[in-house]
This record gives sequence, C-alpha cells and structure tokens, in this order.
Amino acid sequence: MDNNQKIESIYKSISLVLMKFLSETYGALFIAQSNNKNGFYLDFDSEERISEKDLESIEEKIKSIIKEKDISIDINAFKLLNISGVYLEDNDKNKMVQRIYVVVFQTENELMEYNRLIQEAEKRDHRKLGRELDLFHIDDVVGSGLPLWHPKGAILWRVIEDFWYKEHLKNGYQLVRTPHIGNKKLWETSGHWGFYNESMYPPIEVGQTLKENQNKEKTKESEQFLLKPMNCPFHIQIFKNRPHSYRELPLRWAECGTVYRYEKKGELSGLTRVRGFTQDDAHIICTPDQVENELKKVVDFILFIYKSFGFEIESINVYLSVRDKESKKYAGNDEGWDFTEKILEKVALDKKLNITKDVGGAVFYGPKLDFKIKDAIGREWQCSTLQFDFNLPERFDMTFINDKGQEERPYMLHRALFGSFERFIGVLIEHYAGALPAWLSPVQVKIIPVAERHIEYCQKLSDEFIQEEIRVELDLSGETVGNRIRKVSQEKIPYVLVIGDKEIESNKLNVRDRGSLNIREVNKEDFMFEIKGLSVGK
Ligand SMILES: [Zn+2]
Repeated sequence: MDNNQKIESIYKSISLVLMKFLSETYGALFIAQSNNKNGFYLDFDSEERISEKDLESIEEKIKSIIKEKDISIDINAFKLLNISGVYLEDNDKNKMVQRIYVVVFQTENELMEYNRLIQEAEKRDHRKLGRELDLFHIDDVVGSGLPLWHPKGAILWRVIEDFWYKEHLKNGYQLVRTPHIGNKKLWETSGHWGFYNESMYPPIEVGQTLKENQNKEKTKESEQFLLKPMNCPFHIQIFKNRPHSYRELPLRWAECGTVYRYEKKGELSGLTRVRGFTQDDAHIICTPDQVENELKKVVDFILFIYKSFGFEIESINVYLSVRDKESKKYAGNDEGWDFTEKILEKVALDKKLNITKDVGGAVFYGPKLDFKIKDAIGREWQCSTLQFDFNLPERFDMTFINDKGQEERPYMLHRALFGSFERFIGVLIEHYAGALPAWLSPVQVKIIPVAERHIEYCQKLSDEFIQEEIRVELDLSGETVGNRIRKVSQEKIPYVLVIGDKEIESNKLNVRDRGSLNIREVNKEDFMFEIKGLSVGK
C-alpha cells in the first residue's frame, strides 16, 4: 500500500465509525463524503441539528469506539474541526444538510503543527487586524464585498500606489485613466458580453432618469451601459483614437482601475473576495517581434515588486494556464492559441520560473501566467497575472503601420502586479501580522508627551515631522505613559518617542523601536534623516 492509499484507508475507517455513530445517535442519513489534503468532510441529513458544542463529545465517543474495536489509527492524530450547514449540490434552492469537517494526520505531531498554523492564521487574519488597526471595514449598509477605507487604510493604499506609479514610470509605462461604466456595444465587441457574462452585472439603462424609471415611463432612447469587469476595452479605444506607427511601439499603458465582478454573497470574504476592486492594471501593445522581450520584462517587474514588499522570490509558484481544447468558452482559433501558449511557456522556462500547467485555466482571450507567493507561514496567495492576448486586437481591429507602410495587427499583453490593491493589502497584513515595514506603516512615529507641560513642544515636533513627510501621531489622551506605550505596541507602530523634561532640555530624542525593549538616544535631525531614508524593503 502506498502512502496515499494508506491515508485514504485511515479516512475511510474514521468516516465509517463517525457515520455509524451519527446515524445511531441522531438518526442521520449519509449523503456524501469528500477527501481533501488534510482530511475529509462528511455530509449527512438529520432531523436534529448538531451544533459546534456537540463536536467535542462526538469526537470523544468515536475515539473510544476506535480504541475498543482496536482499529489501528492514532486517535491523537485526528480532530473534528467544525460543522456547518450546506445546500445540497451547492444550490440554495435545495435542502440544507449538515457537513462535518475532519482533519486527519498520520502522527500527533503533524496535527499539532496543523493546529499551530490555524492559530497563527487566525492571529494574522486581515479582517480581524483590519478592524483592530482601524484600516477598513465592510459595511452592510453600503453593501457586501465593497470595502470602505478608513484614514489609516487609505494612507497605506496611497503609499503603495505612489511607489507603484514611480516604478511604472521608471519601467517605461505611461498612465491612462478611464471611466467605471461603458456602452454595451463595447462589451459586445470585446466578447465579454458572451464569454464573461457569469462575472458581470446586468446593464444600467441610461436613456432615462431614475425618476422616469420609477414612474415606469418609456425609455426615450434605449442605451445600456455595463459596469466594467476589466479595463482593457477602454485602453483599446484610446489606442484606436488615432493611427500608430511601429516606431511608437511598444506602448505600455497603466491604470489603477476599479472593476466590478459578480461574486456570490456567501463567497465574499474580507479583502480577498470582493465585488468591486482596484486592479493595478496595464496593457502592453507591441509588434510580434517585441512580444517575447516584453513578456520577460513583465516577469522581471513582477519579481522586483514581490522582493520590494518582502516576499521570497525563490518560493514563488507560477501556474501556466492554457485552454482546454474541448471547451467552447474561448475566443479565437487554434493556431493563435498554440502560438501564444508556446511563447508563454518558453518565457517561463527561460526565466527559470517554477511552473505548473493548469489546463482550462486560460482567460477567454488568451493563455496566462499566474504568480502565487508564499507568506510568512507558508500559505500561497495568487497576486500577479500576465496574460497574452491575440483575440482583442482582432476583435477591435487594432492596427499599427509597420516599417513597410502597411497595416499590421499588434499583440496585447494584460498584466497586474498586485492583482488588486484590496487583495494585496490583505496579503501584506497577513504576511506581516499587521506589523508592516516602517516605509509602509500608516503611522510611522508616535509621540507621547509625559505631562501637560510637554504638549506644546510635542506639537511643534509633530509639525516638523509632518513638514518632512513623516507620518506621525501625537497621543494626547492623558493616560499613563505606560498605558500609552502599550497601546502603540497594539497599534504596531514602528517608532515611539516619549518626550519629557530631559528630552526637551537635551534636544535629543529617545526612540523605542517596535519589538525592542531598548531605548536609543538620537539627534532629531539624524532620526528624521533615518525615517526619510526608509525605502522599500527596509
Ligand atoms: Zn486587460
């Protein structure tokens, strides 16, 4: 028996004992069982609802049964993780049944390690930290899947965005800006209307006012607009606004563009599954000769970005998503697909990326490379994507004038480095457990006056910091110094300055660095210089 078979037989033994117990005790009827990497889940139907509270005693009972019956399983290596209600066949029109998740390992140590990771993940949960650090919230009154950014979250976003713009300009990109909605005709031409309709919202009628609509008046002129799920068609229309010579190519046009995609309410989660999000998008329009080099440049840019934010580039896994030849959900011909898939694979191999092929994962207009980064506790997150498109240039009849004076079709690359700001910020919060590097921290320095007589000096000091573009916060709460210092540690602010008589007389600062018990004395100018010099990766 190989290892997989061994694990499956352990799963089977546990699920048999569990199911028998549930049916004898609760009259439960078996519906389905599905195995996954760390165990399995069991779906069943019973009159009596089992709650989270019952799990512990059920677990004890089945462990004693396994012991009694002398089944050779380490009873310390599995655990009933949780119970929830699920709809049959995942359809909310069907009946709701119950699902128990069971985690199973071969040794007790593996289960302990798994529990440790779960606890670590809970501590790092960006939804929890987002609240505690006052970065963002999602408001039922506004709508699910639509995050609201508080001042500290918005400044974090702005710092990232400023860095993003600067690096894009250095890498030969230009900026463009486009609206949030566009005419239905545009989306018909792009193919989104037919190929992407499961991720889009229905049209908005723009030929009449809301009031006319409320009064059920006839539409004056029927014109329908759609919320954009992607930015590409807008960038294409900018390209088509005038003729282009081969001498202008490649064109690299970037935009932090907010897009809207349909997600089921039940699948929304924090910043990582939302309905409206801002892509750090760009489209590269180039000649066939330039395409390989442009793809490679994007790969380098992606790796540079990950490194800058403190991720290990050696552990990045890349998924090469190609079409499923049997499926009809792709636009364009086989020739184009074969060609673009081959070049993308060559680029990935040349750049020595760690690639896995994902058949059927391509976008409707072309194949892509998806980059997954590993965070501090080893979880994978998908962020960057690089897509090779030969379809939209065709659909929009994009052309440039080549060196022979003839019209020729360009290629188009779609790419996002963070994926979206929302998702990337969520990943950063979890990766750093909220203790962001000082260059990213919404508040870099906290100033605490010891007594009231020190406030004026602190206010002046704070103004000086602000003038130097250092993000500073003054704590005038009047609580004890000890309490205020503890609060700073909860807020995960990198530097604290406590200012009393001694500091004012000596004109020196006593700096407490985050995570360190030591206090270091520095000149004000040196400290400002240190913070202003903070850059990426520090
Ligand atoms: Zn695009």
